[in-house]
Amino acid sequence: MELPPEVREKIAAGEVIERPLSVVKELLENSLDAGAKRVSVALSQGGKTSITVEDDGSGIPFEDLPLALTRHATSKIRSVDDLYGIRSLGFRGEALASICAVSRLEIRSRRMDQELGGLIIAEGGEIVLHERVPHPVGTVVKVEELFFNLPARRKFLKSPSAEVRRISQLLQEMSLVNFHRRIQLSSDGRRVFESPGFESPRDAARHLWGCDPKEGFMDHQGLSCHLLWSGSGEGRGNLCFFVNGRRIHDPSLRAAIQGASGTLGGDWVVFLVVPPEEVDVNVHPTKSEVRFKRPRDVFSLVHRGALSVIGGGLGLDGPPGQP
Ligand code: ADP
Ligand code: MG
Repeated sequence: MELPPEVREKIAAGEVIERPLSVVKELLENSLDAGAKRVSVALSQGGKTSITVEDDGSGIPFEDLPLALTRHATSKIRSVDDLYGIRSLGFRGEALASICAVSRLEIRSRRMDQELGGLIIAEGGEIVLHERVPHPVGTVVKVEELFFNLPARRKFLKSPSAEVRRISQLLQEMSLVNFHRRIQLSSDGRRVFESPGFESPRDAARHLWGCDPKEGFMDHQGLSCHLLWSGSGEGRGNLCFFVNGRRIHDPSLRAAIQGASGTLGGDWVVFLVVPPEEVDVNVHPTKSEVRFKRPRDVFSLVHRGALSVIGGGLGLDGPPGQP
């Protein structure tokens, strides 16, 4: 049988929005795509009761607010060809529609060129209000009662403290690649994390790690890679990869770092810049896996980059601690 539209809508939403963490990830990406200099995230009960993301980005025109909630409506790409040259974090026009299908969602926004802002409220995918209201330039998205209409999923949400930890980790990681922006997280009225904005990724990493990172750069045939390492014995062994500003998970790149660093451990951040047409980001619902056109070149670039950072970090005389 063909499933009724409201069931299809919930299934589609479930692929993108799994938990409060996924809501924060998508809303943060939208704020970053809108060029925000400042993004603040506020949670209550780990996001189960509410998630608010506020930015000072470009804003959404009043008349486009309903469109922003429509599935497959995006202002970021126009044709299938654009899929092979993605420069923004979002491109499917799916996130707000998905969040909206499984929550009570409210957006307030204003664009610079409009005198008055707009408010739109939707519940379980149905728009219940759309009116003009005063608002500063930028956007506030508030998501309440996530999964109120999917009780099974709501019941199995992780504890608020576990969710706050994961969201804080996400924002910390994103603050490295968005080092120049101010990113804040609060939970139940308490400040959990703040990155005030820095001059360089290295400064952001120093703030996060509490030690002076070792740094390296490596280029090869149009690919470039910037690496930061906390040094041996520091950190918790986190490996964090970004491709053109997008946080990705890639077992092969993990292997490249682990192969180079062996038992040295430490935290790593790797920023890869790859021509957009050489990376397919449209392979996974959450956009967290990508496919490279030249995977072996990327692997070798990261591997060599890591070796050079370690060589520099250890000095030419041998392991740290030795004169
Ligand atoms: P996508 O990001 O893939 O385009 P979304 O559903 O996340 O899809 O957002 C839909 C559209 O709403 C975006 O294309 C953008 O035009 C607009 N939008 C969403 N959030 C913001 C924001 N914080 N600031 C400005 N525009 C936004
Ligand atoms: Mg988006």
